[in-house]
Amino acid sequence: MSDDLTLHAHLVGRQGSRADLNTPALVLNVDALDRNISQMAGLVAERGVRLRPHAKTHKSVDIAKRQIAAGAVGVCCAKIGEAEVLVDGAIAGILITSPIAAPRAIERLALLAKRARGLMAVVDHPQVARRIDAALAAADARLDVIIDIDPGIARTGVASAEAAVALAQAIAVAPRLRYQGVQFYCGSQQHIEDYAERRSAIVERTDYLNEVIAALTAAGFAPSIVTGSGTGTHHIDLELGTFTELQAGSYVFMDKQYLDCDLTGGGVPFEVSLTVDARVVSANHSGLVTIDAGFKSLSTDGGVAVVQRGAPETAFFAFMGDEHAALIAPDIGTQLQPGDPVSLTVPHCDPTVNLYDHYHVVADDTLVAIWPVSARGRSR
Ligand code: PLP
Ligand code: MN
Repeated sequence: MSDDLTLHAHLVGRQGSRADLNTPALVLNVDALDRNISQMAGLVAERGVRLRPHAKTHKSVDIAKRQIAAGAVGVCCAKIGEAEVLVDGAIAGILITSPIAAPRAIERLALLAKRARGLMAVVDHPQVARRIDAALAAADARLDVIIDIDPGIARTGVASAEAAVALAQAIAVAPRLRYQGVQFYCGSQQHIEDYAERRSAIVERTDYLNEVIAALTAAGFAPSIVTGSGTGTHHIDLELGTFTELQAGSYVFMDKQYLDCDLTGGGVPFEVSLTVDARVVSANHSGLVTIDAGFKSLSTDGGVAVVQRGAPETAFFAFMGDEHAALIAPDIGTQLQPGDPVSLTVPHCDPTVNLYDHYHVVADDTLVAIWPVSARGRSR
């Protein structure tokens, strides 16, 4: 890392080559990133919908700033720790999308509400709403809150329309809380590979969301904000028109899991901007080379990486432990030599990013910046 930073210091006014980077490195193509950012900004703007993209994907002040410059109204954060780092980076309009329940986290939320501009957080239980309200009173702060609605996976969120109304009533009588609306994130539908199948699942879930919204509205709690959606369902959600704002995250980078999904019923409107650059470290077998990226360099929950360049795209990737993986293809061991670079499309972007301290930002193949993964590891 420090070698790369030294290299970067030497780069001012000079050309630095991506091929010179220490590996494994998290490499970000800034032009592809910016195209993805403006593509999503354009899609939501066409529909008159707002974008508050999820920063759990990138954990980066630099990328959040680019999204906001392109029209996003703020960003979402998964955890209070992530939000603290982005607030320190002068990001406004943050929505924390996971319920906060730990006493210390509630205290930190109240302190953050005091100093952040436009902070919001989800709640899914009246008791927690009351505890947050008490912490806000102690901190002399106020907070806008969003009711998290369980889309049927029993992870977080109120589990019925009645529970949503009861929570809205608890929020209404909490002096420091202001009810702003609802969140509905259909996590288990995002990666349904077939478009028609994903669409019909989302149509059915949106009917349920509309029932909950109707019950809230009838009780005097019409939501100003209806937030949710992800990269997998953005196209469908924009068509259905229930959300007032989208919180897609992965579209900025794309990954193997999302490349396997037909996102629009006719292709993928985003390109891969993120790769892990690795290097051949051993080539002593004709059908196999070993590279320097293993479990510690790529998330393991989303299948395996695929070669983007530097080796045959059809090469089979196999993890070989913490530090290594094999690329397997006929004659690959005679085509590649130790030291040769290989760029990989990551299986799942969010947990992969969290393995790195920095993005090595490239334009074409020139290193143009090193950005911190600002909120790396801030999962509490
Ligand atoms: N909103 C919530 C609550 C999420 O948990 C996630 C990702 O898991 C997203 C939005 C972003 O979705 P995606 O990365 O699929 O675009
Ligand atoms: Mn993800």
